[in-house]
Amino acid sequence: MGDQVFVSTHPLVQHKLALLRSNLTEPKKFRELVREIAQLIFYEATEDLSLAPLTVQTPLAPCEGFEVADRIGVIPILRAGLGMSEAIIDILPTVHVWHLGLYRDHETLQPVTYYNKLPSEPNIDLSLIVDPMLATGGSAVAAVDILKQWGARRIKFLGLIASPEGVQALTAAHPDVDIHLAAIDRFLNERGYIVPGLGDAGDRQFGTG
Ligand code: URA
Repeated sequence: MGDQVFVSTHPLVQHKLALLRSNLTEPKKFRELVREIAQLIFYEATEDLSLAPLTVQTPLAPCEGFEVADRIGVIPILRAGLGMSEAIIDILPTVHVWHLGLYRDHETLQPVTYYNKLPSEPNIDLSLIVDPMLATGGSAVAAVDILKQWGARRIKFLGLIASPEGVQALTAAHPDVDIHLAAIDRFLNERGYIVPGLGDAGDRQFGTG
């Protein structure tokens, strides 16, 4: 595995990941766990953010502190990425969230963009693509392609579970993009599901399927 791939070893992440995977976990609890793990992965993925000094007034005295100086864009891949982006904007309300809708064309097998809310000008320092499952890697590679064409320079991918095939596809296509995950599983099956995985992350969040 390349040095751009970070798999969390934090006990809280691993504890919550096992609950997330369980087929006994219902959508309400599943959504909660997606949010909690997304915040922990976001915490780990943002340790290199730059800070600017700031003075606040406490009830007792002025106090020197810091604020995040990087402008951050969060790009959820619809629809499964929604739970992750909502968790991230809750923990850092200054991020901008731009939704990106991609589907795979059945004939060409290529990702097609059906929704793109990126603003016309790239006005951020760091782009975080969020999608819980890095399966074939097709959508993630396409999302990075779109962001690079748009002008983004610093891009990270945040997911929950990846297949080895997905990690390989994304690192091969975009070696400059860091990947932050809670786990890399055994393999991708013939239907494109990660095994053991957790099933369909969209269906499990939204009670469909
Ligand atoms: N998308 C999912 O939701 N689950 C998988 O296992 C693979 C892709």
